[in-house]
Amino acid sequence: MTKGSVGKVTTQFVDILEGLELEGGSRLQHLRIAYETYGTLNRDRSNGILVCHALSGDAHAAGVSDEDGRNGWWEIAIGPGKAFDTDRYFVICSNVLGGCKGTTGPSSTDPATGKPYGISFPVVTIRDMVAAQKRLIDNLGIRHLFAVAGGSMGAMQVLQWCVDFPEMVRKAVVIATSAASTAQQIAFNEVGRRAIMADPAWQDGNYYGAREPVHGLAVARMVGHITYLSDDSMHSKFGRRLQVREQPGFDFSTEFQVESYLRHQGDAFTRRFDANSYLYITKAIDYFDLARDGSLITGLAPVKAKVLVVGITSDWLYPPYQQQEIVSALTANEQDVHYGEIRSHYGHDAFLLEAGQLNYLVGTFLSTSLVRDVMVPDAPTIPEETSVAAAAKMMIRLEVNHLPVHDGGDRLTGIVTSWDIAKAVACGLDRLDEIITRNVITALADDPIEEAAHLMEAHAISALPVVDAGKKVIGIITSDAISTLIGRCP
Ligand code: SAM
Repeated sequence: MTKGSVGKVTTQFVDILEGLELEGGSRLQHLRIAYETYGTLNRDRSNGILVCHALSGDAHAAGVSDEDGRNGWWEIAIGPGKAFDTDRYFVICSNVLGGCKGTTGPSSTDPATGKPYGISFPVVTIRDMVAAQKRLIDNLGIRHLFAVAGGSMGAMQVLQWCVDFPEMVRKAVVIATSAASTAQQIAFNEVGRRAIMADPAWQDGNYYGAREPVHGLAVARMVGHITYLSDDSMHSKFGRRLQVREQPGFDFSTEFQVESYLRHQGDAFTRRFDANSYLYITKAIDYFDLARDGSLITGLAPVKAKVLVVGITSDWLYPPYQQQEIVSALTANEQDVHYGEIRSHYGHDAFLLEAGQLNYLVGTFLSTSLVRDVMVPDAPTIPEETSVAAAAKMMIRLEVNHLPVHDGGDRLTGIVTSWDIAKAVACGLDRLDEIITRNVITALADDPIEEAAHLMEAHAISALPVVDAGKKVIGIITSDAISTLIGRCP
């Protein structure tokens, strides 16, 4: 294994048999999701990070694909010691709904006809993509994501997660995106779609098993690719240099280096991407608009996550003012938001290229945690007036080793652990109040995670109930969660 790499990875699949209701009103009878995971899910299942890919990405975000030896699309940021540190976090990435890399999309077989859907596939939205990911996360048994992160269309999914499932997302990393697609973004997408649909091989989307609309798809990618670069980076990469000739030929052959580069990008893309998926995914981007009643402040009101918004100085497709609008709306709602900027001349693509700045910004944001970012909320508690046997049964049923004890109301009065239950059995004690520890060491939601770790270490205990000002238990934090997330084990 190379240092900093998760090594060889295999894409996995999950079938969601109940299908999926879509925002547009139709229903997919069957849904398959392709996904990859890196790192280990901790016992609390509290260290999951979902990374969401952009337009042309896939589930292969990190490591070396055992299928084709490719590196993951966010290899610069996912792996041991990187921002998405796989020694701490369990990183998940899935191919989006409507894609062509294993998740159900227009090239999948329609169970009703036994043939590829083509453009009979229902139009999907970013919200539908997130709804599909939610099924995957449920399937993995994860109730709270430590973070959701992505750039470009990936960041649209991140924002949608924060709005649709606010209780599930602790931290959100939103890079180089907009809260609503602008006219210019829609315009570029439309040029790409028209190029595909004008290709005679497109055949109203029914080209599977025949000649594919590669010319249209290549042009769509060429246009898209220009928007991902910057004037500055194109100038320094190509200038006005000619590819082969010394002098202009006064004809229409591919003369300039930039022409040759774009043609190569376009052609290479057609070997790995489905033209219909390009139509569907760009349409989903176009429909994206998180404003409610004309207000982004209202639209983002449900967000509970701590949000890091990142802009890229040279990005003219999603210019920094669009990320600042997100920051302003969250700030107006008094939500917890931080803004960082990647200084780069690479343009929009910088979130896939600027390893140093990206790892610094995201790594710092993820690793600076409070107890609330790591605790398991809604921890089970037990009333004092009960039996040892009832507590033991509850622990076995809920698979927990620690039960905070309350006074019948909301107030924490003690704690009982599996160790105490063993002691009760050894000493023949039946009543819970005979064995509980009354002097409970607790944490507050806004304590730094290091402080909680220090308390556990000092008292040789492996969990702290998290309480509010009225001593009501609002969660529990375990040494397992802490050791996975800050690499320290009491
Ligand atoms: N392995 C144990 C654990 O899981 O915490 C630590 C061993 S310590 C000897 C066990 C005692 O610590 C038990 O009597 C238990 O009630 C007590 N204990 C556990 N968590 C506590 C907490 N947060 N505050 C005070 N006492 C606690």
